[in-house]
Amino acid sequence: MATYSTEKLHQALKHFFGYDEFRLNQLPVIETVLAGNDVMGIMPTGGGKSICYQLPAMLLPGITIVVSPLIALMKDQVDSLLANGIHAAFLNSSQSPDEQRDVIVNARNGNIKLLYIAPERIPANSSSFIEFLRTLNPSLFAVDEAHCISSWGHDFRPEYLKLAILKQNFPHTPVIALTASADKLTQDDIVQKLAIQRAQVFISSFNRPNIFYYIRPKQNVIGKIAEYILKHQGQCGIIYALSRASTEEVAGKLHAMGIKAAYYHAGLDANERSRVQEGFQKDEYQVIVATIAFGMGIDKSNVRFVIHHDVPKNIEGYYQETGRAGRDGLKSDAILFYSRGDIMKLKRFVTVDGNAEQTNIAMNKLKQMEQFCEADTCRRQYLMQYFGEKFPAYCGSCDYCMSSLEQRDATVDAQKLLSAIVRTGERYGAGYIIDFLRGSQSEKIQEAHKSLKTYGIGKEVKKDEWELLVKQMLNNGFLERTEDQYASLQLNHHSHEILKGETQLMLVMHKGIKDQLTDDEEELAYDEQLMKGLRGVRYELADREHVPAYNILPDNSLVEMATYLPQNDNELKQISGFGDYKVGKYGSHFLRVLRQYAEENKVASKMHLKAPKTTRTAKKPAEPKQPTAGNTQLATLSLFREGMTIPEIAQSRRLSLATIENHIALFVSDGTIEISQLMPQRKLEAIVAALHQSGQTAALKPIKDILGDDYSYGEIKVALDYYRSGRM
Ligand code: ADP
Ligand code: ZN
Repeated sequence: MATYSTEKLHQALKHFFGYDEFRLNQLPVIETVLAGNDVMGIMPTGGGKSICYQLPAMLLPGITIVVSPLIALMKDQVDSLLANGIHAAFLNSSQSPDEQRDVIVNARNGNIKLLYIAPERIPANSSSFIEFLRTLNPSLFAVDEAHCISSWGHDFRPEYLKLAILKQNFPHTPVIALTASADKLTQDDIVQKLAIQRAQVFISSFNRPNIFYYIRPKQNVIGKIAEYILKHQGQCGIIYALSRASTEEVAGKLHAMGIKAAYYHAGLDANERSRVQEGFQKDEYQVIVATIAFGMGIDKSNVRFVIHHDVPKNIEGYYQETGRAGRDGLKSDAILFYSRGDIMKLKRFVTVDGNAEQTNIAMNKLKQMEQFCEADTCRRQYLMQYFGEKFPAYCGSCDYCMSSLEQRDATVDAQKLLSAIVRTGERYGAGYIIDFLRGSQSEKIQEAHKSLKTYGIGKEVKKDEWELLVKQMLNNGFLERTEDQYASLQLNHHSHEILKGETQLMLVMHKGIKDQLTDDEEELAYDEQLMKGLRGVRYELADREHVPAYNILPDNSLVEMATYLPQNDNELKQISGFGDYKVGKYGSHFLRVLRQYAEENKVASKMHLKAPKTTRTAKKPAEPKQPTAGNTQLATLSLFREGMTIPEIAQSRRLSLATIENHIALFVSDGTIEISQLMPQRKLEAIVAALHQSGQTAALKPIKDILGDDYSYGEIKVALDYYRSGRM
């Protein structure tokens, strides 16, 4: 077996695919496969699984057989290989017998490097299929979407069970199984059922650093979506909605506002569905409003945003859907509109009649979705922990981490809120209590309540601020909410501390969150006009070849060209996405535009500014940043460094203990302050143990309940942030 140096593999990656660097575990996976071993590779959607078998296929002699379940995706993959000058073909039920025969003849004659096969093509009588494979003498088997083999997975396909014959009949041919399923049971199942027990397993982090996560309250949602889309012209995205009717309604409204939107759901006939899908792929539509039926077969790498108009049923679904954004590695947004009303609606949806166990599982998943939306923590950290990865408490690229925190003393408001709850008998949900506090004239408010002294005492505070206060009081254990459909607010003994004035309540507010979404992008280093020209060239080439535009070149190749202005073939080769084949085939078309631009504007190539060997574009994708500590946090830090204790700082700054503890937590989780300066190891361990005992909840209260009065909320928060930052 030939060995390949890292250098050689890099060269091959550049030569065949035009990429400068391997992503995630691509390199070790490829080395393992080339050494003749079986591999199971687990990578998030968009992680670049295909290269893991496509590159070995190019280096190994003979043919690689790829089993892939999705016919639409198969065609797309084959097209993009062909666009790189690589001989690839597929066999599936969409072809006529003649077409299939042609493919088989070509494969036997050694004219095909990668042959994609749909699992249903494997006949029940496997011996004829095995004979067929023997005539091809394959060098490698790749099983894409390998979780389809497991009934534990979310997409079980019984035909996949036949794939055990691969290893059984070709024990010396390596098998590479690839999936994005993070579930351990599924992973074990894959190895078993493919009979590749000796496979080396590579698990990549599920973090998608280029996706920015935002959660917004669901108010005036169409207005907000439209505003976002209009600010992001030239970028495309997917909007997920729960029901077929609402996809049509939302698409209709956006359309009326002049946005190129179409809808997609399982109720459309097959023709209509592929028309919409193709329209999106060819950038004829800017947005598709869809149910979750949309996306499985979509391999569009430049989806710039995924918006959830409604709350998804579970985090797995949410993560998979948001994962369809930014597969090209460029900065992309995932925006979720959240309301408790949606959660209530979903409770009815996820109930499986006559199956208490399934209902229970689904309810729990929904509960975690709710916690994710309500938790006052880094969104990315929550997601990563959900999938079993440790992650620091600050990512710098979610709405939580990007908003500077502002605190204000909300003790008086909290007292008003609590009195309102008591006066109305602890029987009402947050919506009613807030309306009552704001003196709403609505008929919903009972007449008897309108004569109470507390009616209308909170007029001057805005509705969303009241909502924030309720949320934070719930999260921090100053308020309870019943689990029934009424979600009534009720007091606990901590509430009474606030009522009596024994505890001060600081409300943490995020400043300027709204602006992050619609603010104009940072100034770009390239000329929009030139970009338009390059897009035009790409469009013409795509049109001529009847392929989607990103098949010619991905978006970031255009961005790099517009930024660095390559002027000849050699310079073009340094642009990401330009393998040798594409430089030869398309180079001159782009160079014509680039040279003309340079001439007219009297500018020269800026290739010297491009760092060698990098796939990064002019606009760098987000790297985790240090938390943005505001002034108030820094003031706390400097007093702490002067040797003051936390209570002393609280007193000198006239802020609550809880507030100062929050500040300190931030510095502990980013490593500025050692945790040992704050609490003994014993306490730290007790808190972590309580976290596990409480079922890894994001809320502090269940943990506090286990630990009792010797532990303050602040201490718990500090310890948890520290633990979650992966420093322990
Ligand atoms: P997955 O199957 O894991 O969802 P793909 O294999 O479809 O992901 O890859 C996603 C996108 O990333 C594709 O557009 C692919 O061409 C691109 N890609 C893969 N590997 C690299 C790399 N090393 N450098 C740059 N882009 C890459
Ligand atoms: Zn974050």
